[in-house]
Amino acid sequence: MTASFQPASVFDFRGKTAVVTGGGNGIGQGVAQALAVAGAKVAVFDHDAQAAKATCERIEAQGGAAWPYTVDVTQEAQVAVAMQSFHDNCGHIDILINNAGIAIRRPTLELSLADWQKVLDVNLTGVFICARAAARFMVPRESGCIVNTASIMGLSGGGLYPNISYQSTKGAVVNLTRALAVEWACAKVRVNAIAPTWVRTDFIKPLLAQEDLVQRIEAMTPLARLADAKDVVGPILFLCSDAAKMITGHTLPVDGGFLAQ
Ligand code: NAD
Repeated sequence: MTASFQPASVFDFRGKTAVVTGGGNGIGQGVAQALAVAGAKVAVFDHDAQAAKATCERIEAQGGAAWPYTVDVTQEAQVAVAMQSFHDNCGHIDILINNAGIAIRRPTLELSLADWQKVLDVNLTGVFICARAAARFMVPRESGCIVNTASIMGLSGGGLYPNISYQSTKGAVVNLTRALAVEWACAKVRVNAIAPTWVRTDFIKPLLAQEDLVQRIEAMTPLARLADAKDVVGPILFLCSDAAKMITGHTLPVDGGFLAQ
């Protein structure tokens, strides 16, 4: 017999707990708020203490439950302490949104090794550190879900401007997602990623200031616009939800058809 699909219960996150890295701004803030509205208890990890606190205050003002943690995702010990503290507070960790990221957009011939390394540390090593720290609680419990934030820049060669360290890390996140999904499937821990197009956040402020560039992006996008943070929040919630119970190792473009061409 086929069990019927219950949309309301599938997107009910009451009783769940979620860690959102980079939750102080942009996409991470949107996801943290949405998870809290859907009933989850949320830990906001951000190296910007004020930003993490502000997101939690917004969530609490909406009646949700959230705790700010000042965490640099590149710092293994900080991540471990914060993950342990949130776990001790709530009893379990169900969801990790591995969202913190940076970009240093520069022609490759002008990119220093230090800047290359900085981007790798946050966008790739940070994703590994946080995934491993969360999975230390998820794997023994045989339950959990991780959503990594890749980018269309991890699934294409880009081309509009040079951004080699960013593109390399986001491509690596796509394959890290596949590999962790396969490794942890036996523990029923699902690992997926999203690959957004350009999203109107502070992250791309310098690009948004270039009107001709924005117009070119719109012209190259079948849905003819850039994304807003809320366009990305829904797909992330879907991947965390029981509606995606049979999906693991997948990277979901949220790109208005950009990669379909
Ligand atoms: P954002 O700059 O608005 O927010 C990023 C957050 O991450 C900030 O709160 C920042 O303080 C935090 N952060 C940065 N480095 C950190 C570190 N080392 N430790 C902890 N926190 C740290 O960016 P956004 O647009 O919301 O981007 C979120 C994710 O989405 C990133 O991984 C980014 O690469 C990805 N993404 C963004 C776009 C876009 O166009 N905005 C497109 C595709 C993918």
